[in-house]
Amino acid sequence: MTETEIPEDHPRYASLVTRHRIEAGVEQGITSKQGLIAQGRGEAFDYLLGERTIPSADDAARAAAATLLLADRPVISVNGNVAALAPSETVDLAGAVDADLEVNLFNHTDERARRIADHLRDHGASEVKGLAGDGEIPGLDHARGVVDADGIEAADVVVVPLEDGDRAAALDAMGKTEIVVDLNPGSRSPRTADVPIIDNLLRAVPNVTAHARDLADATPAELAGIASSFDSENALDAAEETIRGGSFESRDDAE
Ligand code: ATP
Ligand code: MG
Repeated sequence: MTETEIPEDHPRYASLVTRHRIEAGVEQGITSKQGLIAQGRGEAFDYLLGERTIPSADDAARAAAATLLLADRPVISVNGNVAALAPSETVDLAGAVDADLEVNLFNHTDERARRIADHLRDHGASEVKGLAGDGEIPGLDHARGVVDADGIEAADVVVVPLEDGDRAAALDAMGKTEIVVDLNPGSRSPRTADVPIIDNLLRAVPNVTAHARDLADATPAELAGIASSFDSENALDAAEETIRGGSFESRDDAE
């Protein structure tokens, strides 16, 4: 079945499209097999969250937009899952906040990095970083720590969707302001983030873009107010409470 053959009125349409994109990503050599496992973990948490953007995640998306608009050198890190699931959405976000895109892979191969860069260009990206590999994230072994010197290494704000916990901690130790998108509020990466967005990447990325467009005329003081009033602990707690407190019946009602 191709993506266009999935019936839009299917009750699990979004989930089926997502699976299809990840599977196609593996077939095209842009997503790793590990990425399939990560997707399965994410889906389980999305189910528990009711497959919707909870209010605290929307607040986080707005804080992320404000943080990105205030940044001097924002970079959006793109791995194989991000490239397969939301290439156009990620390119749109980069445009809305004037951020660079950098391919950054946990299981790095030059071949896969090139394919991802091409895939992003096919979806409208003009420049894609991450192929130079002339910088590093200190504290990680070489393969995991390679970045571009004028990309993630020099960035003040990094968006790291679906990032591994160790790398999120190492970026934090470099003093980066980190925006993490992850469906699991217990995972180390969102717990390390300055702005954890506990939401599905497919909903979160366009939502940050929408907030950025809405905030396009805000003053720096207004943006700073939005960013500083966001509380990451509260956001993680709200997501955890939603997961622990929900019943499957109320989740059905929410749709
Ligand atoms: P760690 O605690 O070291 O961060 P982890 O459990 O997060 O470990 P990984 O498999 O490296 O392990 O991370 C995958 C993460 O990506 C999971 O937390 C999962 O919830 C998240 N994830 C997968 N798909 C999506 C998606 N579509 N949107 C948002 N998050 C996702
Ligand atoms: Mg994680």
